[in-house]
Amino acid sequence: MSTKRDYYEILGLDKNASEAEIKKAYRKKAMKFHPDRNKEDPEAEKKFKEAAEAYEVLKDPQKKAQYDQFGHAGVNGQGGFGGGAGVDFDNMGFEDIFSRFGDIFGSGFFGEESFGGGGRRGRSRSRREPGQPGSDMKIRMALTLEEIAFGAEKKLKIKKQIKCGECSGTGAQTNSDFETCSTCNGMGEVRQVTRTMLGQMVNVQACPTCSGEGRIIKNKCKKCSGEGRVKGEETIKVNIPSGVSNGNYITLREQGNAGRRGGSAGDLIVLIEEKEHEYFDRDGKNIYYNLTLSIPDAVLGTEVQVPTLKGKAKLKIEPGTQPGKMLRMRGRGIRGLNNSGEGDQYVRLNVYMPESLSEEEKKAISSFKESENFDASNADGSDKNFFSKMKDMFG
Ligand SMILES: [Zn+2]
Ligand SMILES: [Zn+2]
Repeated sequence: MSTKRDYYEILGLDKNASEAEIKKAYRKKAMKFHPDRNKEDPEAEKKFKEAAEAYEVLKDPQKKAQYDQFGHAGVNGQGGFGGGAGVDFDNMGFEDIFSRFGDIFGSGFFGEESFGGGGRRGRSRSRREPGQPGSDMKIRMALTLEEIAFGAEKKLKIKKQIKCGECSGTGAQTNSDFETCSTCNGMGEVRQVTRTMLGQMVNVQACPTCSGEGRIIKNKCKKCSGEGRVKGEETIKVNIPSGVSNGNYITLREQGNAGRRGGSAGDLIVLIEEKEHEYFDRDGKNIYYNLTLSIPDAVLGTEVQVPTLKGKAKLKIEPGTQPGKMLRMRGRGIRGLNNSGEGDQYVRLNVYMPESLSEEEKKAISSFKESENFDASNADGSDKNFFSKMKDMFG
């Protein structure tokens, strides 16, 4: 799972890519790596399918959100969407992949140069957003296994750039302190027209005077010096779903640094770290606990209290319990991502051998030497059992 490439990286996009951009990027990749056009390149097929899988996830807002939050684990794990993006692209023919996303290629796909036209037309010329967007922030969050097992609501105090309260983020003292930029006449962009042999070439750039905002500030807000944002601190609530693991991240949209002059805020990316637990080892949804019994308890059987993620619980030890035996406590593990159910707690049993004995104890133990019940040859096949147990545990 960890060898999978990032879906955004595959399509050459950043996280803020719009639906139209995702579509366009996939179309480009699909055409570039189409096996019919890359007969010499054995990697092309792999890349072609990889792009299809990335698009399958990113085109779907729900899957995309899962992926943004949890990475591949969100769309891949147990109880997720099944194999990969929920579609088995590896065993799918090219034509099937094409017909799956057929609508985005249009009719001109195989007719050489006619593709690409749709992309330009599709771009909206909506009004420019004010200001400049804020930067994303990344923070690490250490969680206990208990928090991971059942989910948690955490509060985070973070230092970041926040919107200036004095000017409400505009950067100006009052709303009448704005002036239309005379360089670009408020368009926010400047055009340069050059004549070439092929005709007119138009080069469009963000206006250098107003940085593309279309207006300039006459009297800047004194508190933020016209930036529209100041250094500050904010407490943010983060809902941690159960079942996350090391390296998962949760993206909180627009909770990062405030934008400049009313621009949208960046994202806050919370990277999950699992704290080591005093008693338990974790393997996916299951947890492991080592319990060492005394010889009399292992021989005669007993009832013990063992820690679980929800406090102590009783566990029955049968008489004649062998060291290395593993007991399962159903449903005492970690609740998986996407309501995929609870894991189990496993208890590995060990038996403690006393290291020194009194004369009296030596005598008592020695008296069992000749007893048939204590004959080690009764433990027939137990070595083999040990290895198959190891295989079950780690294989
Ligand atoms: Zn201000
Ligand atoms: Zn301008």
